[in-house]
Amino acid sequence: MKYLVVSDVHANLEALEATLASAGPHDGVLILGDLVGYGADPNAVIDRIRGLRHATIIRGNHDKVGAGIDDVEAFNHLAKHAITWTAAELTPANRSWLAALPAGPQNIDSLVEICHGSPFDEDVYIFDDLDARRALLATDRPLCLFGHTHVPAVYRFDTDLRSVGPPRGETFRISLDPGVKYLVNCGAVGQPRDGDPRAAFGMLDVDKRALVVTRVAYDVAAAQAKIIAAGLPEVLAQRLAIGR
Ligand code: ZN
Repeated sequence: MKYLVVSDVHANLEALEATLASAGPHDGVLILGDLVGYGADPNAVIDRIRGLRHATIIRGNHDKVGAGIDDVEAFNHLAKHAITWTAAELTPANRSWLAALPAGPQNIDSLVEICHGSPFDEDVYIFDDLDARRALLATDRPLCLFGHTHVPAVYRFDTDLRSVGPPRGETFRISLDPGVKYLVNCGAVGQPRDGDPRAAFGMLDVDKRALVVTRVAYDVAAAQAKIIAAGLPEVLAQRLAIGR
């Protein structure tokens, strides 16, 4: 069984299309939330994802606010502006679909579980070793895939916790050793924040117990032009070019 791992698309259709086109053959797609917010294509991204076969999808914090089932007050100024625009833009059908997405964590099989922020709370960020330790206590599968920070990260825990990558900008292959727990963020498809503007995603081979965290360049200029044309804050377009 091979999975494409996608997180934080954030209404960036160009980044999603590039990711789907460059992913190798796979049997399923794991989508870790934040389909919308920040970008200018919320309906097109939802339509594309709804059309994927064998996708397991959980919601992110932007999906909840965009669908009107969570409060916008926790958002910063930029996120608030964008999600208010998104909520008005969503078709009623897509808003209902978004509102019905399940929360993480969700177990996929005996190896993998997925969550948006942390396995114990979908909205909590895993930024450092301390956060990772707390999160690992709440996992019940050997591999927990998360998103939310928009920064690729790989933690392994056997007798102690270690951050093992990925090296910036490089394709990173992890073989999942038996008896070890892993906590992995494959990065953000639609709004990377690690200084690399390319879309980040993962490819997981369950049978080979192998996970690859990798990148693909996409048409940033096209995504930026749509953000500007939609009247969204210009900084949301600018940040895509620098991956911040
Ligand atoms: Zn996000």
